[in-house]
Amino acid sequence: MNSKYKVAVITDVNKLEFVEKELKQPEDNQVLVKVDSCAICTLEQRVYGGVMKRYPFAGGHEVSGRVTAIGRNVKSLSEGDKVTARLLTSCGECYYCRSGHENQCVISFKAETQEGINGPGGFAEYMLLDAKSLYKVADDLDLTYASLAEPLADCVHSVNNANIELSDDVVVIGVGIMGAFHIKLAKLKGARVIACEVDEARLEIAKKMGADILINSKEVNAIQKVKEVTEGRGANVVFCTAAIPELASDSIQMIGKLGHVIMYSSFHPDKPVELNVNSVHSTEMNITGAVNANTSDYLMATRLLSYKMIDPSLLISEVVPFESIEYAFQRAIDPKTYRIIVKM
Ligand SMILES: [Zn+2]
Ligand SMILES: [Zn+2]
Repeated sequence: MNSKYKVAVITDVNKLEFVEKELKQPEDNQVLVKVDSCAICTLEQRVYGGVMKRYPFAGGHEVSGRVTAIGRNVKSLSEGDKVTARLLTSCGECYYCRSGHENQCVISFKAETQEGINGPGGFAEYMLLDAKSLYKVADDLDLTYASLAEPLADCVHSVNNANIELSDDVVVIGVGIMGAFHIKLAKLKGARVIACEVDEARLEIAKKMGADILINSKEVNAIQKVKEVTEGRGANVVFCTAAIPELASDSIQMIGKLGHVIMYSSFHPDKPVELNVNSVHSTEMNITGAVNANTSDYLMATRLLSYKMIDPSLLISEVVPFESIEYAFQRAIDPKTYRIIVKM
């Protein structure tokens, strides 16, 4: 085994560099993973594009690979296992971690996987990780797909927050990768899914992911249309997966009595929306959010992928070799693309 390996580090705005690291063998509960795939998420795009200036940054948190060596106390994994990693880790010590809400951890998002460099560190040939952050996936699961366990887990968390029941009317606003996963998960929960999007190509993806009703919100009034197809009641559940504050307001207007509105996306700009509180009072609607995933959501996501209950192939726009990671980032910031995956 070569004793050095490469890590891609974002060193400044639009600047990526390869850094060499010493390969170390795993101790105790550690596992050495040979990285196969790492997808480019919005977090990495924001650091690369200069929206979040935290340099140097070893990005890459949507990762999959193979176990190459294990420490002497590791029980759940063996050499050769296919794995994905939960890298936006939680401390395990705070109030929220201890009460089963790791996604609300007070120090969440802090990681230093590659020694001495801030960041989750998935754009690398190897990662040395704690066994508890790794999730084994099926031997016959394509590792390219396994790298999408993280975004899928976030959507699992969101769908679990919505209490979907059989035959519920579920609206998904926005059909990016997150919207597309929401559509498929809501279908698995037994809902009738209504997808709202302004882009025809994305509505086509919505249909392929299982959406029953497609609404092009550029052409029709989406709120009216949702009311129309639900006999005037409004939806049981609305997921807002687009970052536009006006759509948050639309989501609230689409919901029916006792319904759940989930603000899945963060909003840019974070502009306040008007809310008629009497409508909250009288309809008993629930307005909530969803952020990141708990360990249980992560486990569910890896099972859904391993069991082939979710096929993410439509949501991968291009697979790019590690050497061409700059090109991969250029592709990823194009709003037309779904996930771009870097292959080590
Ligand atoms: Zn992500
Ligand atoms: Zn914590």
